[in-house]
Amino acid sequence: MSTAPQVVLPAPPSFRLDGRRALVTGAGRGIGLAAAAALAHAGAHVLLCARTTDEIEAAAAAIRAARGTAEALTLDVTDPDAVAKVLAERPPVDILVNNAGTNRPDFFTDVSISDFDTVMALNVRATYFVAQSVARGLINAGRRGSIINMSSQMGHVGGARRSLYCASKWAMEGFTKAMAIDLAPHGIRVNTLCPTYIETPLTEPFFRDATFRQSVLDKIKLGRIGQVDDLTGAIVFLASDASSLMTGSSMLIDGGWTAE
Ligand code: NAD
Repeated sequence: MSTAPQVVLPAPPSFRLDGRRALVTGAGRGIGLAAAAALAHAGAHVLLCARTTDEIEAAAAAIRAARGTAEALTLDVTDPDAVAKVLAERPPVDILVNNAGTNRPDFFTDVSISDFDTVMALNVRATYFVAQSVARGLINAGRRGSIINMSSQMGHVGGARRSLYCASKWAMEGFTKAMAIDLAPHGIRVNTLCPTYIETPLTEPFFRDATFRQSVLDKIKLGRIGQVDDLTGAIVFLASDASSLMTGSSMLIDGGWTAE
């Protein structure tokens, strides 16, 4: 008879999201669409939101065609009252990917007040109040949840012609930590995801400039520009119980940009 001690293996992580509801803002294309598809693949029912009905309906239909469950919400997230109303009419969402965002790069002394207001209205004001609506729904229903704020490596460093974008993403890093403190007693986790440059419709015009493209490649230590697929594993991780002890934190997926 063996005298070897019986080994009890730790439980494996669960990345499944069956039975959870997820809201992804800016889900019509780019990173948001990839996030929505990945969450649906992991079993979540996904609400995709963006301003353009055709784009968002097509995205939701593509997820359903891939055997996910998804519905499209035409919604401008810069209108907090509209967001609150739409969310109050539905069961609470357990997962938020607070992704809609924009960038208006310019040299610091040329940044216009109009661009400042546009970027801050979407990247800071809208994301803040979408998170607030989601958190209120969860608290009222007594449910736990995970909020993923889509930040950037530019929420951790500075960049040329990025003073406005950096202001918005550093703000997001700050409110994420403070939200995490307020919401932890309710079992609601709040983290940021911080990508390097990813090829999407947002960055496509920037990369038409070969000098800019090379300057980005020179800083990404792994030597390639990111693709949306580089982010989806992290999104499912942050949404799932596999990250259940993680809150008020940032996950950098930057190919080593900020390592130096
Ligand atoms: P994108 O422009 O390709 O897609 C943005 C999506 O947001 C679109 O579906 C658009 O319709 C939607 N949107 C814009 N304004 C909206 C509004 N008012 N209400 C609702 N939806 C709205 O952008 P992307 O490159 O996929 O970026 C998504 C997020 O990731 C942004 O927050 C961006 O700052 C961040 N990010 C992007 C990169 C990158 O290199 N692409 C890097 C780091 C962080």
